[in-house]
Amino acid sequence: MSADTVPETDRGTGAHRPDADWGTVTGWGRTAPTGALLVRPRTYEEAAVAVRDCGARGGIARGLGRAYGDAAQNAGGAVLDMTALDRVHAIDADGGTVLCDAGVSLHRLMEVLLPLGWFVPVTPGTRYVTVGGAVGADIHGKNHHVSGSFARHVLSLELLTADGTVRTVVPGTPLFDATAGGMGLTGVILTATLRLQPVETSLMSVDTERATDLDDLMARLTATDHRYRYSVAWIDLLARGRATGRAVLTRGDHAPLDALPARSRARRAPLAFRTSRLPAAPDLVPDGLLGRTTVGLFNEVWYRKAPRFSRGRLQRISTFFHPLDGVPHWNRVYGRGGFVQYQFVVGTGREEALRRIVRRLSARRCPSFLAVLKRFGEADPGWLSFPVPGWTLALDVPAGLPGLGALLDELDEEVAGAGGRVYLAKDSRLRPDLLASMYPRLDDFRALRAELDPRGVFVSDLARRLAL
Ligand SMILES: Cc1cc2nc3c(=O)[nH]c(=O)nc-3n(C[C@H](O)[C@H](O)[C@H](O)COP(=O)(O)OP(=O)(O)OC[C@H]3O[C@@H](n4cnc5c(N)ncnc54)[C@H](O)[C@@H]3O)c2cc1C
Repeated sequence: MSADTVPETDRGTGAHRPDADWGTVTGWGRTAPTGALLVRPRTYEEAAVAVRDCGARGGIARGLGRAYGDAAQNAGGAVLDMTALDRVHAIDADGGTVLCDAGVSLHRLMEVLLPLGWFVPVTPGTRYVTVGGAVGADIHGKNHHVSGSFARHVLSLELLTADGTVRTVVPGTPLFDATAGGMGLTGVILTATLRLQPVETSLMSVDTERATDLDDLMARLTATDHRYRYSVAWIDLLARGRATGRAVLTRGDHAPLDALPARSRARRAPLAFRTSRLPAAPDLVPDGLLGRTTVGLFNEVWYRKAPRFSRGRLQRISTFFHPLDGVPHWNRVYGRGGFVQYQFVVGTGREEALRRIVRRLSARRCPSFLAVLKRFGEADPGWLSFPVPGWTLALDVPAGLPGLGALLDELDEEVAGAGGRVYLAKDSRLRPDLLASMYPRLDDFRALRAELDPRGVFVSDLARRLAL
């Protein structure tokens, strides 16, 4: 595909304009809604027309809207919903690669690829993200310490840039490194070719153990994480005193065929992709339901129900990687005010900063039931990619929690002071003056954008807020 595949008639006449409607857009945290023209291209040509027709307020690509903050919104401008461009074009079932549109979800890829013995190379905590969103945020999974983040497995991209051309972008080039983690600000990704992970079954073999406090948890992760492809710890941030940072550690790998019981249903169809779905969360959850008492109770039960130590349990992929996907619209449980997700990383050797932050959250009794800690491996080449080798903690908190803004500002300072950074795909409130110290390649990113997109066609609420 190239720019000249865009029909000449589209350029002047506006023919083949994509569907578009004004509407309100938020991130998954449902805070800071803004109005935008929602444009829904169905072809690459319509995407090119949409970019050409972005008005003075510019445009930004959007996938499935799972970024928590304002990365895929653009107040007063255009938001290009890319989910109608969702074709899987070609699978190399021998070599383990797939070429697909950027609007394809990881859920869809799993449906198509698992029966062929292949899995996506990196999956976040939800499979309802698009390939475009996965590259845009350069997402990481429970396997970052082994496999790095998503863009490491991208062989090439087709990127529609501000001048209307479609460029083939390959790893090792400045444009690739600016696009991986570039939050949609270098252009609209139209297609991607990905390298896949071979699997013998669609089940996971999972080891679970409890850690009595944060130091115990970090010691376990440091000593044995290298033995597992996937690893993550759920932390009870409401536990105090000697139990501060107690956790349930879950680690595993794809189960080999011979781990499945003979003559079982799973053995008969080892690559079947099975998911379960519970009723959707109601829209009218009273604000304040997720207070300290409810969350404290939940955390207590969650910790106690986890086995102290179990080995080789078989779990579905959906249970191991995406437990929340079983409850559609679970983000409504935080009520109308929405919630903030805060994720930061501090490098190896800066454990004291992590300890201080966990103690602080626990002392403030932050009602978070979705707090997870994991270790990152090598940093990724993307200029704004989030991971650096070290410790990353992610937590959800109701946006209306009194004093939350001041608390998170203090944590930002602590993180920045320890040479760490916060994750832009989760962010909705970081102060712009801290960004440059967190992302040292920010100036390169800005310079490349200024050259590639001098009129500032691609812009989002996140980009305006942080002057990206
Ligand atoms: C329950 C849950 C768990 C999560 N767990 C993790 C996790 O473990 N690890 C992790 O890294 N993230 C995680 N996330 C965050 C999520 O993976 C990222 O925010 C991802 O970018 C969302 O993809 P999306 O398709 O929904 O994109 P959107 O949220 O719609 O957009 C995200 C960014 O990608 C850009 N983008 C989208 N499509 C394109 C395109 N075609 N071309 C160019 N840019 C594009 C947008 O402009 C925006 O900047 C989680 C989110 C949720 C809700």
